[in-house]
Amino acid sequence: MSYYASDLLTGRVALITGAGTGLGRRMAERMAGVGARIALVGRRADKLGEVARAIEAAGGAAAAFPADVRDVAQVQAAVDGVVARFGRLDILVNNAAGNFLCPAEKLSPNGWNAVINIVLNGTFFFSRAAFPHLAKDGGSILNILAAYAWLAGPGTVHSASAKAGVLAMTRALAVEWAPHRIRVNAISPGPIHTEGTDKNLWSAAPDLEARIIRQVPLRRLGTADEVADAALFLSSDLARWITGQVLPVDGGHWLGNGVYDWNPARGTAAT
Ligand code: NAP
Repeated sequence: MSYYASDLLTGRVALITGAGTGLGRRMAERMAGVGARIALVGRRADKLGEVARAIEAAGGAAAAFPADVRDVAQVQAAVDGVVARFGRLDILVNNAAGNFLCPAEKLSPNGWNAVINIVLNGTFFFSRAAFPHLAKDGGSILNILAAYAWLAGPGTVHSASAKAGVLAMTRALAVEWAPHRIRVNAISPGPIHTEGTDKNLWSAAPDLEARIIRQVPLRRLGTADEVADAALFLSSDLARWITGQVLPVDGGHWLGNGVYDWNPARGTAAT
């Protein structure tokens, strides 16, 4: 289902990293559903092929460009390949990430570097390679954050540091590239079941999901569709006067619930 006009992105080409699974896949499908031609980037060609076939079966256009976002040469080759194939590039979504929980004092330099390289460096490498194409007719970059970019939480120092860097990059590039009519925004998704969260995060404790839900004011997990809707909005002309912003799509998760449990039916506030 889409709330948007079916031709909202007709004529546009969108490159999405980490598009073979989870939120990236759903953003790709949603943008394809309103006319964008989609370039799917990730390391696993089989996953990207699956998504390309699903998009084409639904009447859209998509092609896979396998690449590791950490590798500058592969990033450049992917962007060149997209422009050779589709003739232009209008939208970049930097969504690829790697994550795992680890106490800071036990985090190896390799573990630190892996996450910084994928999230922080990968976002910059793709933004830089996409720049000349986005600057031609004006374009959009959308970065995918997480609330630990500005909140603290044990076990996430590598991801928090990387995402905080991407938050700063979002604002810096929004200002620097505004004269080129490139908008740069970010979404901070709340907790959503995906391959990444199921395997690397939520298996940490059996009651973790229930505890997470209790921290969400809207009292449920999100869905990939909800992130895809916001991504489509920010990447389209509907958001043409919006740049340098972060939109949390998280049921209020980052705000928390406060310390009072106010129940109007009871008429009391209790801690
Ligand atoms: P996911 O299913 O694990 O997706 C991550 C994607 O990134 C995978 O498709 C993976 O594909 C790709 N990737 C990883 N390393 C890569 C590399 N070096 N080069 C190219 N691609 C790479 O996780 P997700 O939950 O959908 O996460 C998507 C984004 O949302 C991430 O930025 C994440 O931090 C953010 N986020 C998610 C949640 C949530 O609850 N789901 C909450 C907050 C933020 P390959 O392995 O094939 O390369």
